[in-house]
Amino acid sequence: MAAAAFLGGQSRLKAGCGQNCPPSNCKLTHYRLWRQASCYNQAMSLVVVGSVAYDGVETPHGKVDRMLGGAATYIGLAASYFTPVKIVAVVGDDFAGEDVALLAAKGIDLEGLERVPGKTFFWEGKYSADMNDRETLRTDLNVFADFQPKLPVSYRAAPYLLLGNIQPALQRDVRAQMHGLQLAGGDTMNYWIRDYRAELLETIRDWDFLLINDSEARMLSGEHNLRRAAARILDMGPRTLVVKRGEYGAILFANGCHFIAPGYLLDDVFDPTGAGDCFAGGFIGYLAERGVDLRGGAVGIEDWRRAVIYGSVMGSFCCEQFGVDRFRTLTREEVEKRYREFKACTDF
Ligand code: AMP
Repeated sequence: MAAAAFLGGQSRLKAGCGQNCPPSNCKLTHYRLWRQASCYNQAMSLVVVGSVAYDGVETPHGKVDRMLGGAATYIGLAASYFTPVKIVAVVGDDFAGEDVALLAAKGIDLEGLERVPGKTFFWEGKYSADMNDRETLRTDLNVFADFQPKLPVSYRAAPYLLLGNIQPALQRDVRAQMHGLQLAGGDTMNYWIRDYRAELLETIRDWDFLLINDSEARMLSGEHNLRRAAARILDMGPRTLVVKRGEYGAILFANGCHFIAPGYLLDDVFDPTGAGDCFAGGFIGYLAERGVDLRGGAVGIEDWRRAVIYGSVMGSFCCEQFGVDRFRTLTREEVEKRYREFKACTDF
């Protein structure tokens, strides 16, 4: 990443502590962490677009009024275990230095994290007793309402792109700013399927993969049966489809066949917020690490399958603690151990 570009842009986050001190004077270690991040191998870089937020979450295990969240945050954190990540998002001037530090410590490039006057996007949700349902209590778009993703020049040649859940037209616009993509896809949600259908169809038409949950797959396709739903969605354009089924796992539809992965059985689910996004991060992160290139033909079914398992692994870690907390200590060794455990549990 070009340090000068990062430091020069008034609207970009300072590379120091995220407050107002210049990086060189910053008493904290954030600048050092960020410098380390910029030395990462850029070749397999993944650009992630979406929300960086503060969340309030209540589950049967407790309640947190305000903590770091957002789709791009979860995707980026999960993917960072596999590949260098570049985030495109917007935050307000209330965005804390310690949250910048966490992202920087994971080597995430923050040149595309815009900081503008106002408040950071805030979302609040409450989970049911079995945690399979959640109710959104509050969505304050704040600075996210005017989000117009602008890709820094240093992002545009990245080979991988994960479009988090934002307005389809913005997702399309981001994709158009990139050249040399080897694999691109993303996520969406019921709101866009219901109220922006034409725009969404136009957007996903040329995606390499689409990740959605089962109720969204049914809504998008108009089919209840997931096999028929998948066939319809693949006819809409995406070459590969992953239908996420929460604690029940995920189904991959790729290369003319399908693969069913169960969910990892956790002792305790503390907070499922972000699990779907972490799935996406593990999925694309693994494929980026492998260096897959759809321009050279199809991705092998084995790689797609392993990507689904790494997605499930990262989603499961996400649920073990509140918010992003599990990623503060999680190591790649733990990721590999769980991947092997997954393999052993499903082999027959
Ligand atoms: P997940 O549990 O995977 O659906 O992701 C939850 C995350 O998505 C939370 O951290 C929220 O901040 C973020 N989020 C919730 N609603 C929206 C929205 N409408 N647009 C973008 N991000 C959102």
